[in-house]
Amino acid sequence: MSEITITGWDTKDVRFPTSLDKTGSDAMNTAGDYSAAYCILNTDSKYSGHGMTFTIGRGNDIVCRAIDHLADRIKGRTLSSLVSNWGQTWRHLVSDSQLRWIGPEKGVIHLALGAVVNAIWDLWAKSLHKPVWRIVAEMTPEEFVRCIDFRYITDAVTPEEAVEMLKKAEEGKAQRIKDAEESKAVPAYTTSAGWLGYGEDKMRALLEETLSKGYRHFKLKVGTSLEADRRRLAIARDVIGYDKGNILMVDANQVWSVPEAIEYMQSLKDFKPWFIEEPTSPDDILGHKAIREALRPHGIGVATGEMCQNRVIFKQLLASGAIDVCQIDACRMGGVNEALAVLLMAKKFNVPIVPHSGGVGLPEYTQHLSTIDYVCVSGKKSVLEYVDHLHEHFEYPAVIKEGYYQTPMEPGYSVEMKPESMVKFGFPGTEGSWWQSEEAKSILEGIKI
Ligand SMILES: [Mg+2]
Repeated sequence: MSEITITGWDTKDVRFPTSLDKTGSDAMNTAGDYSAAYCILNTDSKYSGHGMTFTIGRGNDIVCRAIDHLADRIKGRTLSSLVSNWGQTWRHLVSDSQLRWIGPEKGVIHLALGAVVNAIWDLWAKSLHKPVWRIVAEMTPEEFVRCIDFRYITDAVTPEEAVEMLKKAEEGKAQRIKDAEESKAVPAYTTSAGWLGYGEDKMRALLEETLSKGYRHFKLKVGTSLEADRRRLAIARDVIGYDKGNILMVDANQVWSVPEAIEYMQSLKDFKPWFIEEPTSPDDILGHKAIREALRPHGIGVATGEMCQNRVIFKQLLASGAIDVCQIDACRMGGVNEALAVLLMAKKFNVPIVPHSGGVGLPEYTQHLSTIDYVCVSGKKSVLEYVDHLHEHFEYPAVIKEGYYQTPMEPGYSVEMKPESMVKFGFPGTEGSWWQSEEAKSILEGIKI
């Protein structure tokens, strides 16, 4: 690889007005405008690295400012110096002593880290003419482990233990790579019917439509009214049945206290959900454990992760037996590297990985993570959320066929957004762009909920 130097970066605040039709609405996040805080790393070569993190609107500008602070730390660096010891690079990015104070490794500064780290991965993958998942699939166990900053997690998994786990997982790996190449590595599940803001007729129609497309897993939002939820879940079971191999999941987006979560979910047990997602605060390890233990006799599992702020919280959730399903997020984690650390811990504690994918750009990213988990780490297929919105804005959007993600084959990390989309939905925008239009006033001047 000839030397590539990072010469600078561009940060873009891009917001899609999804609050207009309630796409993405749930019990906590009632009116989100799916947004990308976007980082483009410029170089002295023909390649640029594209990375983003996801927010739901207001505050996206704050994340963009944080990206500027972090990207400045790699300006002038060569790509080879950044990726030859990735774990060290990652440590460097989280180690600005002044920026660290506003984290550490959590919140806005960590969301921004995800955008910058993923932009480096995208740049690297493009320069090697490979998709990100394949770069990782072709690593030796030692190279995989060198991507990770193990500080704070060696009590759960040491680098040596990780190498051993990855060596064991090499059995059958060639076949799993073949599965990936044939797009049979990552089955999808759908949330499309389940947003709380959708009416019951729309919900039923979307369930019927997605069932006919080959989906077998369906997730619905719950948590605003028990009576309404019972009605919605009854409709869902009416469409998908109880004994046809179709799986129902529910998601509360953190609205309950621990006792409320237990009581509420006991009232929904007849609908036989596989798991309740985000029943309470994402920081509450003991709370998740208590909910899991109370719901286990009813056959209901506990899932969380989309707002889990870093590998340290995941370590506690996994090691303490607080969750049945681990929902890493490609943006909230500090990029691919920290996600790899969580994949290893999930394998160690035998918890399946089901990445969080409900947001713009997330399916584009997470298809790589689920493929890596299947090919290199767990060796098991799980299911991956697919939300059918806003893919048209990406150069190489995620595609589902016959219930499977079509494995990305283009070089990069798949979140390169079309330049015209960035202009049209740039915030606050320029003359002629969407946020300067009359239509935008209903959001900009409306009540902020
Ligand atoms: Mg969720």
